[in-house]
Amino acid sequence: MPSGSASLIWFRKGLRIHDNPALEYASRASAFVYPLFVIDPHYMEPDPKAFSPGSTRAGISRIRFLLESLADLDLSLKKLGSRLLVLKGEPSEVLIRCLKEWDVKKICFEYDTDPYYQALDNKIKNYASLAGIEVFSPVSHTLFNPADIIEKNGGRPPLSYQSFLKLAGEPSWASSPLLVELSSVPPVGDVASFEISQVPTLKELGYVQNDQEELTPFRGGESEALRRLRESLSDKEWVANFEKPKGDPSAYIKPATTVLSPYLKFGCLSSRYFYQCLKDVYKNVKRHTSPPVSLVGQLLWREFFYTVAFGTPNFDKMNGNKICKQIPWNDDDELLAAWREARTGYPWIDAIMVQLREWGWMHHLARHCVACFLTRGDLFLHWEKGRDVFERLLIDSDWAINNGNWLWLSCSSFFYQYNRIYSPTSFGKKYDPHGDYIRHFLPILKVVSHDSASKECRRKMGEAYALNKKLNGVVSEDDVKSLR
Ligand code: FAD
Repeated sequence: MPSGSASLIWFRKGLRIHDNPALEYASRASAFVYPLFVIDPHYMEPDPKAFSPGSTRAGISRIRFLLESLADLDLSLKKLGSRLLVLKGEPSEVLIRCLKEWDVKKICFEYDTDPYYQALDNKIKNYASLAGIEVFSPVSHTLFNPADIIEKNGGRPPLSYQSFLKLAGEPSWASSPLLVELSSVPPVGDVASFEISQVPTLKELGYVQNDQEELTPFRGGESEALRRLRESLSDKEWVANFEKPKGDPSAYIKPATTVLSPYLKFGCLSSRYFYQCLKDVYKNVKRHTSPPVSLVGQLLWREFFYTVAFGTPNFDKMNGNKICKQIPWNDDDELLAAWREARTGYPWIDAIMVQLREWGWMHHLARHCVACFLTRGDLFLHWEKGRDVFERLLIDSDWAINNGNWLWLSCSSFFYQYNRIYSPTSFGKKYDPHGDYIRHFLPILKVVSHDSASKECRRKMGEAYALNKKLNGVVSEDDVKSLR
């Protein structure tokens, strides 16, 4: 490439500096690098009619998480001599204009298997090929390239975790060091006629009138992802003994799992770096758990769903999806709304749904409980409806993983023991016997302290019974008032 030429790195996921091959390649032998994020109305147009704040496709907690991640990325790029450029509009139109006006010779973006990005990326690749622009689109969101696994399996995705493990083996890059530190990024070139904005706030995007209270305790960004990763890894015994599904789904002050999923979703954390760090811990302990229950095993569940999703036409639907059982689900908007809005009357289920709406994250088993309840457990509603609610509200909302788990929980695919149902009462009681979790997320019950409330009730009942006895059961309205 001639010196003086410009490259563009298009950030979508992969919002990080560490282990970012697209950024590294864009920086190589380029005089200028344009780091670009496009605010896409498809995901980010505010929807005032939605049942909770946010856009049609994303709840406000996830949008906030994304904006925080972008602000953190901008800061990191500034430290390397660059900055993040933010533009708004339909991404392929914005991109093509940028490529033309900035005279870009090389465009780099992380490979993405989601159908929405596959279609978008094809448009960009077609334009680049006609315009003679080099495209570099490496696989770095996942440990494996799903297409490689499918090819090894004769063109079909493996449909069980164990068969996936056999095909996958050890990732090819696993024993070589990843590029974790980047020392500099070439400067941004002339931005021509573009009006480049700073990373916007929720208010600037029209989601809120004022900066309001933050509901989710999880802050977005690579810095926070790496801090969280270090914190999780510092307890080597915990990492070595990690065993899912063991763990308390009601633990909310200190969750029982890593809560790295939103960082993996946006690529604030590299799954490959996470994998290597876990393997380093394993090397230094006597014994450790293994897939499917270990932490490495959790990352491999992610890979499994990515592979099946990539290789299955209509993976996100019942109709036309060959691996999905055809089930005559009911259609009932009122029941669906009651579930979505935490009005089922089952405190355990409702508390989980409030945690979803406010935090955008719940423990895996809590997700199991509400997904089972909506589908084969109690309401017999379509898993696609529940999937939509999760897809909008989760901060870790991930096309392949979310659809894969809904298929699983509704016994539509992968798992078929439909007689095994989570009780919406006793399962919760097992983990939350004193109702701490429930009262935390259901504010209406927050002020009720059973110990003092029942003591007070007993006192009042005692007084009333005594009065009844004294007056031989003939009690006037005024007598009752005197007891209040
Ligand atoms: P940890 O237990 O610490 O695991 C580490 C990482 O492994 C996770 O961050 C995640 O990337 C991966 N992982 C863990 N469990 C699974 C799993 N069952 N399938 C695939 N990958 C897994 N996870 C998402 O990331 N996005 C989703 O949209 C999503 N939707 C779900 C919907 C339903 C109905 C259910 C039952 C589960 C869903 N999950 C989803 C999977 C799982 O619940 C979360 O990944 C996990 O709870 C995230 O918490 P953690 O990061 O603390 O997980």
